[in-house]
Amino acid sequence: MENSKRVVTLVYGCQMSERDAETLTEITRQLGYSPSDDLETADLVIVNTCCVRESAENKILGKIGELKKLKERNKNVKIAITGCMVQQPGALERLQKRAPHVDIWAGTHNLHDFSALINRVEQGRKVAEVWQESKATLEVIPLAEKGKLHANVNIMYGCDNFCSYCIVPHVRGRERSRKPEEILQEIKSLVDSGCREITLLGQNVNSYGKEFSPAYDFADLLHQVDQIPFLLRIRFITSHPKDLSDKLIKTVAEGKNLCEHFHLPIQSGSNFILERMNRKYTREYYLSRVQEIREFIPNASITTDIIVGFPGESEEDFEQTLAMMKEAHYAQAFTFMYSKRSGTLAAKMEDQISLDVKKRRLQILMGVQNQESLEWRQHMIGEILEVLVEGPSKTNPERLTGRTRGNELVVFKGDFETIGSLVNVRIKEAGSWTLIGEVE
Ligand code: SF4
Repeated sequence: MENSKRVVTLVYGCQMSERDAETLTEITRQLGYSPSDDLETADLVIVNTCCVRESAENKILGKIGELKKLKERNKNVKIAITGCMVQQPGALERLQKRAPHVDIWAGTHNLHDFSALINRVEQGRKVAEVWQESKATLEVIPLAEKGKLHANVNIMYGCDNFCSYCIVPHVRGRERSRKPEEILQEIKSLVDSGCREITLLGQNVNSYGKEFSPAYDFADLLHQVDQIPFLLRIRFITSHPKDLSDKLIKTVAEGKNLCEHFHLPIQSGSNFILERMNRKYTREYYLSRVQEIREFIPNASITTDIIVGFPGESEEDFEQTLAMMKEAHYAQAFTFMYSKRSGTLAAKMEDQISLDVKKRRLQILMGVQNQESLEWRQHMIGEILEVLVEGPSKTNPERLTGRTRGNELVVFKGDFETIGSLVNVRIKEAGSWTLIGEVE
């Protein structure tokens, strides 16, 4: 029987935030809510927030303002604001003053207690709870949505790295790894419900298990996940370059279903800036990791994140970032302008870069990367690549779409019966973002 109450979940930010939003939706399902996209008929609206950049925060504040109007039209709708933005030190009071129409405020550490908050709100109260740290036993709620081809699985929470620009360690706490048996169990139940591809998530998956005794690391976990029957593909993000071990690279090289894709954020190509960012590696060390990957896995796809306009970044520093992009041959780069996050070290640095300079550097960087991405894809023309078929293409419903092991999006002519399985596709054309092909 379908649940009669409706919940709309809006999510901002990274895959961790998406995964948290899925958990919240699952909790509400257990309380009798059906997921919906229609705000006008919703009984509950959840906004799971992100604070990693100012632009994301501004967008979310705009959405919270729009929800005030929704509440004026429908007095019964409950509004919940959750996640990173609420968890920032000192943020709750400021947000509550700005948005008194919100019914539930919850930080990142108490999301798993969300059902208790909803119960209190359903009794007509407003609630605000932000825990200062996580209680590990409350971390996991297995999700097993029937027929879902892909799922994200958290393997760890938090981050210990304190990159000087980043708010994440302040809102997600110290690193905690989930036990391998819990992770394996969750993945097996996802596979039983039809899932064929999973992405293992962590802010720094390469430091997974560092607290475990006897020793058990991320490569060991990958190897075990790779043995799960009927699971076709395993991905993982994010790899901190300083912790990317030879053992991990070899494990991926020798794996069966471990996708040859490394998301390896460089952030800057300048050693001076890398030090100010507290990234704990040099460009030389980073390049040695890239070479190691290419030696063991010549066709590996490497993607990255880059910040331009970090405080103190000179034209020479920026030139080194551009040079790095050409040396590393990234398949794709996610590029950002530095954005001040209060509470971080970099926000207090004096030599902030003007918005005009940041915008100009971003444009140049994107131009270089678009060309690199195009060349990367053009190399694939004529090759036969394994594609996991996801469904009809959004831009052309007569074509199918899916992803290669390197995470390239492919649009191709094929049989709709193959959705959910692996097919071999010959690549005919390449754009900056998509490959076009035909089933062999
Ligand atoms: S590794 Fe650095 S950038 Fe990534 S979450 Fe941790 S502090 Fe932030």
